Amino acid sequence: MQQLIETVIIGAGQAGLAVSHLLTRASREHLLLDRARAASAWRDKRWDSFRLVLPNRYWCMPGMLYDGAEPDGFMAAREVVERFDRYLGKTRPPLHEHTAVRRVLLQGPRRFLVQTDRGDLRCRNVVVATGPFQTPALPAWRHALDAEVVQLHSEQYRNPSQLPPGAVLVAGSGQSGVQIAEELLRDGRRVLLCTGGRGWLPRRYLGKDITAWYAEMGLFETRIDEFPSLAAARASGFPQLAGDAALGHTLNVHTLAQAGAVLLGRAEQGAGHEIRVAGLQANLDAADAVAARAKGLIDEHIARRHGSVPPGSDDPWPLYGRGGIEQRDSIDLRREGVRSIVWAGGYRPDYAFLDIPVLDADGRPQHRRGVSEVPGLFFIGLEWLHRRKSSTLMAGDEDAALIAATIAAG
Ligand SMILES: Cc1cc2nc3c(=O)[nH]c(=O)nc-3n(C[C@H](O)[C@H](O)[C@H](O)COP(=O)(O)OP(=O)(O)OC[C@H]3O[C@@H](n4cnc5c(N)ncnc54)[C@H](O)[C@@H]3O)c2cc1C
Repeated sequence: MQQLIETVIIGAGQAGLAVSHLLTRASREHLLLDRARAASAWRDKRWDSFRLVLPNRYWCMPGMLYDGAEPDGFMAAREVVERFDRYLGKTRPPLHEHTAVRRVLLQGPRRFLVQTDRGDLRCRNVVVATGPFQTPALPAWRHALDAEVVQLHSEQYRNPSQLPPGAVLVAGSGQSGVQIAEELLRDGRRVLLCTGGRGWLPRRYLGKDITAWYAEMGLFETRIDEFPSLAAARASGFPQLAGDAALGHTLNVHTLAQAGAVLLGRAEQGAGHEIRVAGLQANLDAADAVAARAKGLIDEHIARRHGSVPPGSDDPWPLYGRGGIEQRDSIDLRREGVRSIVWAGGYRPDYAFLDIPVLDADGRPQHRRGVSEVPGLFFIGLEWLHRRKSSTLMAGDEDAALIAATIAAG
């Protein structure tokens, strides 16, 4: 019979590391497991030129705030990894890398069995910190497409040289999709972009980074319970935006169209050389509506707080027309010269290892601020776990503190 450990944390990304450090500080026994390495999302799942979209100043881990020279810059993935490595050196968590959790079972009140590929563990608490972005969302019909077309998910994309020469279809216009599309255009590729309804924001507005307005207005602190549902909260989620080596730049479906991308509707179905697309105008309307709403909120805030636009401010809100955007129902990959597809439609939840009935009909955990109804079972790092910032590097402290405190009190 194995020893009963107090807490097992599954996943050593930012969320698991934060809970681990707070438990260490509270002298609470625990183990931190990761199927790959700590911070593996940043080590293994970002493209070569990746940079944060949130400025460096928002890096916030318990015991280690951003202390670099460029608070308004955007770290490359390599620098994020270096920072996590420093964090590991400083906090020395009880970490077991290359240990995948296969199954978690409840064997009695506060008695969990955690089965891993390196043996079983028994514990009183389980903290699931397996990330907000778990399994790539890919359409089943991709298998029906011409086998000569190279297909990969955005987390497998590294750089343009990985793709065969020719045009590229990027399917998805969230942050990953627009950033990859931009890199491919800069590489001289012809890019066709299947859009969704993700909104956009300008990088800067009236002399400030857009995130500075959000922070000043408390919008990163918006709570999930201010929305009627998780779906409504998610719809207001992270917009098309980019960081870069300087102060970032505005990037969205309109700037991509100006740079030569062919905008298309959502990729609905496909077989052979043909992909059916639909809803381009509605997607552009939805994206523009998010931007218009944000501008309205910021302008109201400025009027309330400053009386008028602060003097000397530049960076007007960008306006885009839709000239030259053609509505199409389908594309013929061969005719368009498309030899590769980058699927950038995001991720879906995957808790197949959890043999405990805590998921809702969409397969997402049911919880309140990460505390589930099963005593001793916790979740952290989820989109909108508690606030807008919950699934970002900004959340390191607050969400973890509640879970660590609940465990310590339990
Ligand atoms: C393309 C992209 C760009 C992003 N850009 C930004 C940004 O600019 N700024 C920002 O703040 N956030 C950004 N994010 C969000 C950020 O990456 C994540 O929200 C953050 O990493 C979440 O941390 P986490 O610890 O919850 O999850 P993760 O970092 O995903 O960590 C989860 C860990 O769990 C492990 N794991 C999973 N399943 C198991 C298992 N069964 N057994 C053992 N271990 C397991 C994984 O190996 C992984 O290490 C971005 C996300 C993506 C996808």
